[in-house]
Amino acid sequence: MPVADDVIRCSFCSRTAHEVTSMVAGPEVYICDRCIHDASGIVRGDLQAYVPPAPTAGGGRRQVPGRPRRMTPREIKGKLDEHVIGQDIAKRTLSVAVYNHYKRIEAQDYLHAYDDVELEKSNILLLGPSGTGKTLLARTLAKVLDVPFSIADATALTEAGYVGEDVESILSHLLQAADYDVERAERGIIYVDEVDKLSRRGDNASITRDVSGEGVQQALLKMLEGTVAGVPPKGGRKHPEQSLVQFDTRNVLFICGGAFDGLAPQIARRLSRGQIGFSLDGDGLSRTVDAADPTLFRHAEPDDLLRYGLIPELIGRLPVLTALDALTPPDLRRILTEPKNALVRQYQKLFAMDGVDLVLDEDALDAVVDRAMALKTGARGLRSVLEQAMLDLMFEAPDTRAGAVCRIGAATVTDGAPPVYEERKATA
Ligand code: ADP
Repeated sequence: MPVADDVIRCSFCSRTAHEVTSMVAGPEVYICDRCIHDASGIVRGDLQAYVPPAPTAGGGRRQVPGRPRRMTPREIKGKLDEHVIGQDIAKRTLSVAVYNHYKRIEAQDYLHAYDDVELEKSNILLLGPSGTGKTLLARTLAKVLDVPFSIADATALTEAGYVGEDVESILSHLLQAADYDVERAERGIIYVDEVDKLSRRGDNASITRDVSGEGVQQALLKMLEGTVAGVPPKGGRKHPEQSLVQFDTRNVLFICGGAFDGLAPQIARRLSRGQIGFSLDGDGLSRTVDAADPTLFRHAEPDDLLRYGLIPELIGRLPVLTALDALTPPDLRRILTEPKNALVRQYQKLFAMDGVDLVLDEDALDAVVDRAMALKTGARGLRSVLEQAMLDLMFEAPDTRAGAVCRIGAATVTDGAPPVYEERKATA
């Protein structure tokens, strides 16, 4: 409290403003920089000594003081549902894995009743055909959890000494995504795409790249396990005069993904061959398993990956294995309109900026789906089909059509027929 002499004093230690470096004022109170420092030490100490309460009978969770509440797996999945259609198993698995991952990080910060139990890191491997939402899932997770995120393409990586990007460059990208805040970056998510292309099957005959991909698998392995790497802060390759940032990967969550072409028939063969009495329908009858079954990757096992050419150590470092199904026409149809950022909504927004209301008829949407299915690139095909169908309209609309409703039917998608322009209905 300021005392009667009208001099401003710290309400905690009574030092005057002249005796301290700075003073923070609140409503009729002041606190000096020294007291702020002492107080924050006390708070930090309290947090260190925090022991989570024993679970209550109802399984209630208590918020750790000073930390935002952790989202539960159900909440995480709910958020993923807003952006990713289908892929329920992958979403559930990821939600739990990510929840546990961040719990594990918290467990390092607090004294714990289970001190001698070490929680191991659970990096994730997503198996799924191209364009089924692997990258989208990883990216959405990072957004939901508000952690830095970066994508690395495994095929662009090489062992040090070869042409291409060092494995550590992955970390520089993450650092960049975290605005060079190392501590934040160290808790980020990295999506490593196309890990299947690192398999040592020898079908990659490059002489500038490490041919087998095995060296990259080894380098990746170290990062996945947790290592302190010297990272050039601005990316690029290391060189001797450069100052390096020390980057600890222990708490980075790695999500690896791959289409694993050729793996589905291998799984189908295994399922048909070995397991007497097994069937995908669960009716107890043995039968030949169809290699085109869109859910076949759900039956993938570490052994399948080993046979595919991933090294066992890498498989061991990716203990959470989950599959994305091939997308069916009804999935694609939903992807067009349902997600928050759905393609149709994006085009509607683009047209609205030119004063045009875009309407796609049901049969037009079905035609887009048919064409996209034929491209066999999953949901990625939707964008190319729509882009092609919309090109002429996007060329024309800004000049001539402001104030109109542009209605697109199937013929515009299949034969490039002009759309129908209608008057906007007056709103009541
Ligand atoms: P990949 O599995 O090859 O990593 P992506 O996640 O990059 O595929 O998907 C390509 C695009 O297709 C995404 O930008 C997204 O718009 C769309 N997409 C793919 N799968 C889904 C899905 N399950 N739900 C919603 N959109 C999807």
